[in-house]
Amino acid sequence: MASAKYIFVTGGVTSSLGKGIISASLAKLLQGRGYSVTIQKLDPYINVDPGTLNPYEHGECYVTNDGAETDLDLGHYERYLNTPTSQANNVTTGRIYQTVINKEREGEFLGKTVQIIPHITDEIKRRVKLLGETGQFEIVITEIGGTVGDIESLPYIEAVRQLKWELGSSALSLHLTLVPYLAASGELKTKPTQHSVKALLELGVQPDILICRADRAISPEIRRKIALFCNVNVNAVIESIDADSIYDVPLLMYKEQLDKVVLNKLKLPLQQEPALEQWKIFLGKLKNPVNEVKIGLVGKYIELKDAYKSIAESFIHAGVANECRVNLEWIHSEKIDQENVASKLSGLNGILVAPGFGDRGIEGKITAIRFARENNIPFLGICLGMQCAVIEFARNVIGWKDAHSTEMNPDSRHPVIDIMEEQKKITRKGGTMRLGEYPCALQKGTRAFNVYGKQKISERHRHRYEFNNKFLKDFEDAGMTASGINPDNNLVEIVELKNHPWFVGVQFHPEYKSTVENPHPLFARFVKAALEKSRNKEIVATE
Ligand code: GLN
Repeated sequence: MASAKYIFVTGGVTSSLGKGIISASLAKLLQGRGYSVTIQKLDPYINVDPGTLNPYEHGECYVTNDGAETDLDLGHYERYLNTPTSQANNVTTGRIYQTVINKEREGEFLGKTVQIIPHITDEIKRRVKLLGETGQFEIVITEIGGTVGDIESLPYIEAVRQLKWELGSSALSLHLTLVPYLAASGELKTKPTQHSVKALLELGVQPDILICRADRAISPEIRRKIALFCNVNVNAVIESIDADSIYDVPLLMYKEQLDKVVLNKLKLPLQQEPALEQWKIFLGKLKNPVNEVKIGLVGKYIELKDAYKSIAESFIHAGVANECRVNLEWIHSEKIDQENVASKLSGLNGILVAPGFGDRGIEGKITAIRFARENNIPFLGICLGMQCAVIEFARNVIGWKDAHSTEMNPDSRHPVIDIMEEQKKITRKGGTMRLGEYPCALQKGTRAFNVYGKQKISERHRHRYEFNNKFLKDFEDAGMTASGINPDNNLVEIVELKNHPWFVGVQFHPEYKSTVENPHPLFARFVKAALEKSRNKEIVATE
């Protein structure tokens, strides 16, 4: 394969303009034209990865097959492209410095002063080229986190400047800006864009393409003005208008011919019109649902919806698979108690209890699960949600009132969830959980087996605690089945209830694997069960 081409995506004016969605949408169009594409995110913070960050700081921590804890934008990349990302697709300033400092200690720079330029910038450039050099990708899109002008993103912009110089027409720079509408003057304003491009120019980077976020259409006249002030062709001033759904953006970018402009600048053939048939069918169903269901998402980061990004997106995919709109009701686990649980949860067609860490809101989660179990409401528990389902069952069905996870109560006489053996010695927090993809064998005849339609699956993990196999027989005797087991170490990965229409808890995170093209079967079947519940129909366990 010829050497890879590189596209750098920067953002200006404000944060949260949607660089991740634009990068994923462009990648989708290029993939649709037959190119192999990957997207990488460079994050300018000092944490080595976002695994140690509280979700309030930075939203969900996404996990790749190879066990990287990453920025949530990688979830968008996978959901759009339907191809897995890896450790190499997310790099932070912390990781860059860690690598350079480790090399310095090993003596690699012996005698030299180690500096931001060239050592840090060289390491950034190496990480950018790494994906291109695998030979797997024709185009590598690198999204630079943060906003141009931030002190912390300076080394990244400098690396982009150097790479553009080295790579010539094999690299281009795409800059995302805001064109705000000022109600007082009744106009869209271009000045913030001009300033943002000027900030980039001061750092030596001339953007080749400008993507202008706006809440209304940008007229040809305004496009010409932006082109004139920013030294770009007028056809490279792309409008990105606010969309109803993030999944509209690839088609909006196609209408603006972003893919054509990019390929022309990179001197690559257009090959074919983007194959977007499946995507359009998905959008058609998304916009024209035949049914509706109401599903409660019980968690403790409810104020910040980004904390459960992949779960929310998985419900969109699963809704489309069932031609129904999933209305998510976000319910704070700290606000659920025995007195109010019925009033809070009884209108729901399904209940999902979210992943999490620590004690806060735990009793609310357990109370919600009891309600789902006793009222035959379809239930899906993910990671901590599964662990809570096990605790609830131990307390209220088996009768061990003090049952708990040792994460919350190390002294419980019934530690039904306990720390994994290999975790006991670990004291360092960063990157030390059980992370990434592990195999799981499904027991024939169980709901889990029916959901997946096969015996061997593999799913992504992020946890330290596990089902305590010492108690497995008691659970099985009382009606909770371990329907999915890791074949290598016997860890229980899935539990389900015999006497309930649809009650499944999974130790892994199915939400990390759901994509537009492949909605995750667990979410799809859970929504189907909720739909049946909403129609008061019998929920069919096996299909
Ligand atoms: N806190 C639990 C554990 O570490 C669950 C983690 C999670 O929900 N991701 O095992």
